[in-house]
Order: sequence, then structure tokens, then C-alpha cells
Amino acid sequence: MRLCVAMCLVPVLACAQAPVPPSPFPEPVLATAAQLRDHALEGSGAYTIVESLTTEVGARMAGTEADARAVRWAEARFKALGFDRVTLEPVVFPMWRRGAESAEVLSPAPQKLSLLALGFSSGTPKGGIEAEVVRFATLDELKAAPDASVRGKIVFVSQTMERRRDGGGYGKIVSVRGQGAEFAGRKGAAAVLIRSIGTDSDRFPHTGGGVYMGQIALDPDMRKRAKTLSDGSLVVETRVPAAALSNPDADQLDRLVALGQPVKLKLVLDVGLVGEGRTFNVIGDLIGREQPDEFVVIGGHLDSWDPGTGAIDDGAGVAITMAAGAAIAKLPERPRRSVRVIAWANEEQGLYGAQAYAKAHPDAATTHVAAAESDFGAGLIYRFDSNVDAASLPYADAIGSVLYPLDIERGGNAARGGPDVGPLQKLGVPAFSLGQDGSDYFDYHHTANDTLDKIDAKNLDQNVAAYAAFAYLAAESEHKIAAPKQP
Ligand code: ZN
Ligand code: ZN
Repeated sequence: MRLCVAMCLVPVLACAQAPVPPSPFPEPVLATAAQLRDHALEGSGAYTIVESLTTEVGARMAGTEADARAVRWAEARFKALGFDRVTLEPVVFPMWRRGAESAEVLSPAPQKLSLLALGFSSGTPKGGIEAEVVRFATLDELKAAPDASVRGKIVFVSQTMERRRDGGGYGKIVSVRGQGAEFAGRKGAAAVLIRSIGTDSDRFPHTGGGVYMGQIALDPDMRKRAKTLSDGSLVVETRVPAAALSNPDADQLDRLVALGQPVKLKLVLDVGLVGEGRTFNVIGDLIGREQPDEFVVIGGHLDSWDPGTGAIDDGAGVAITMAAGAAIAKLPERPRRSVRVIAWANEEQGLYGAQAYAKAHPDAATTHVAAAESDFGAGLIYRFDSNVDAASLPYADAIGSVLYPLDIERGGNAARGGPDVGPLQKLGVPAFSLGQDGSDYFDYHHTANDTLDKIDAKNLDQNVAAYAAFAYLAAESEHKIAAPKQP
């Protein structure tokens, strides 16, 4: 009955009469998967891993000394956890530096505001800028505004984010952060302030990328400003200085504007691009006993933004997938194919690690049979989605059935496997998503408040149980899982 509920979307009564298809996995393989799952629930070791990363490394923004320390940490951890082979693959990226940053209201009621510059923000001139604020409730309102209403002013976009379990509120609003400076700059603004992309009401601003690099190729104006890295990629700073106010500070600025008198601010952002950085994807492999050159990829990203210690974003994902690999490493024999755990480099500033990996493995569609990333915090997994062809679907369903006792429902077959899986999925690698409850994820995301105390060890164990069973079954499957044919 339990299996039945998991596999049917029709009401339970109708479902009760439908035959449950037999699992395509042999009984001993299912038994091993169940054992991996149940052992992880008793204590997976993932919490110890994320505790070590957030304590011994801490914040690790790409290009910092701590980022290099994180690479050494990951290399040593993989070895200590029993992985057969550890490889470093180089990644280059534009290096951005954060220095002093401040905002204060000069009139009508002088006071300080709490803010963080957005990644790739350009800097203000030395001494800062002083200008009047013009407020917009949404990015669309800014886009529709006449240039004259914006010229020379500090644009403030006060759009609020919706809290949702699946994080769906983020996708609806993140363009405010990635494109606000571009639109404001084109209208002649002096700078842009946004309300933090976050669901909390703490006085912690949320940083994040302030420019959408993917647009450069399509946009002649951005192309004119672009610099080229040694790997050929184009990078720009934001068109005007850009920062995020904490939610309570944005509320305060809303109220100040509502008083109806001109609101004048002073803004200092000593930030900017400082050349090219180099780091590494750190790769731990359990080498497959029959098909060593075919891979199931799981992982999380090793870098973080700089204000917190990167516990939920994404120390948790690194720890969950490392611990899942370590559990599989303890089995009496290796699965048929290789299980590859990747601590991805520089996800935060534009998927630089994932893009370098896709470039280095152009044959991934034939050598990679599954890919999933854990990059949504440390909440319980509640849903399992696949993105496979018709012949592989019974295998994905059977994996879903093994996860069902973890209170994980079988979702659909349109998975996107996490940000760093995107470039692999484009190459034709089957993506899987182990969807976590992210109800409180955006309370802490990219803030100084993203720290270890937000993580519950038992929740991590449930995540490890799911990743270990999933990765083992995908690697052990006699059938080679494939993605849907691309149109
Ligand atoms: Zn992340
Ligand atoms: Zn992030």
C-alpha cells in the first residue's frame, strides 16, 4: 500500500486495486540500498563534516585565502573518508573584493542603515556618494519609470519575497538583485539599493550576485564594459554601485520615504573587481567495479558568500553528499559504476566550477548516468524527482520507492538537479532532485546569520540516507540510466 501511494497520483482507493509493478532491481541490491538508508538514520557523520568545514575554514568566498584552505580541507576529508581517488580540477573566475561599506540617512532624520554590497558591485568614488532616494515597489515599476525621475538618484527597490517550502519565491524575485543595477544605471541612477532577497525580519542584509553574467553575450551595452578572462569568459561589474538593505532597514527606508520629504543618503562601497582568481573543483571518486568510467555525480558547492560561515549554503550539501559517499565506501564491494562526489568551486558568483567541469568533460552524456546537487540547506527531503527517458523511468520509480520510508514522495520527471548540475544537464546528463523543505532557508541565505546552529544533525542524517540509497542504486543499476532525448 505504501509503495502504491508513492507511485500513483490517483486517490488511494483506486490505487489499491492497481497492480504495483515489480522493482527492476534484484532483491539483494534493494536490500543493500535499504541497509545504507537505515544505517545513515542511526548517525551518518554529516554533522561532524559540516561542523569541521564551518569551524576550521569558516566563510570561504571564491578567491580568498579561506577558499584555498577549503580546497585543502576537502581534499583531506575525501581521503580520510575512504574515497579511492581525489582529483583537483582547475577553475578560473573574476575576483571581486569587498572592502568598507556603509549607508546613512543624511536627511530628514540622520541615522545609519545596515547593508551589504552585492557581488560584482562597482565601487562608489572615494568618499562615497550623496543623493536623494527614489523608491520603487517592484523592478517592473523601475523599468517603467521615466529616466528623468531616476537620473542622479539612489534607486531603492523594495520588492518583498514570498516564503515557500520549495523556495519558489526566490525565482520570482531574484532578478531584482541580478538586474536592478543594470536597469537603474541605464536610466542614469547614481546607485541602487534593494530590499534583501530574504524572508526574515532580522537586521542581517542578504548579499548575492548583483549582475547576471549570462546576459553579456546578448547585450551590446554590457559587452562594451566586459573584460575577458583567460578561459574566454566575459565579466562585468554592476553598471552602478549596488547593495542590499536588511529587511528591517528596508522597512525603515519605506517609512522615511512615506513621510513625504526628500530622503537624502550617503553611500560608501569600497568594492570591485580585482583581476582573475583560480581555485579547484575537488572530486572524490569511489571507483566502480565494472564500469569505472561511468559516473553517478552527487555534491554540494564548497565556496560560500563572505558574511556567514556558509553552513546551510552550502556546507550542508557538501557534508550530506560526502557522508553519503563515505557510507557507500564502507560496503563490502564497490557499486558497478563509479560514485563521484564533487565539492563544486565558486557556485555563488556564477557557476564557475560547474562550467569548468562541463568544459573538461564534454562526453558527459555518455559517461555520466545521474547527477544531483544538494544546495538548499539542511531541511528534510520530502520529494524525489527524476529527468530520465522512458526506459529508465521504472528504475527512477524504484529508487523513489526505496526513499519512500524516509517520508519522501515520488515527484515528477522534470527534475532540475541543482545549480551546478545545470551545465551537465545541458550536455544530456540525467538530472535528479532530492527536494528539501526550504521553508526557513531564505531567513539565513547569504547573511552573517548562516551559521552552524541552524543545522539539525538528525535532519542531515535523513538527507544522507536518501543520497546514499539513490547514488548506490543509480550506480549499481544493470540498466544504464539515460536522459530524455533532447529535441
Ligand atoms: Zn548555494
Ligand atoms: Zn548561495
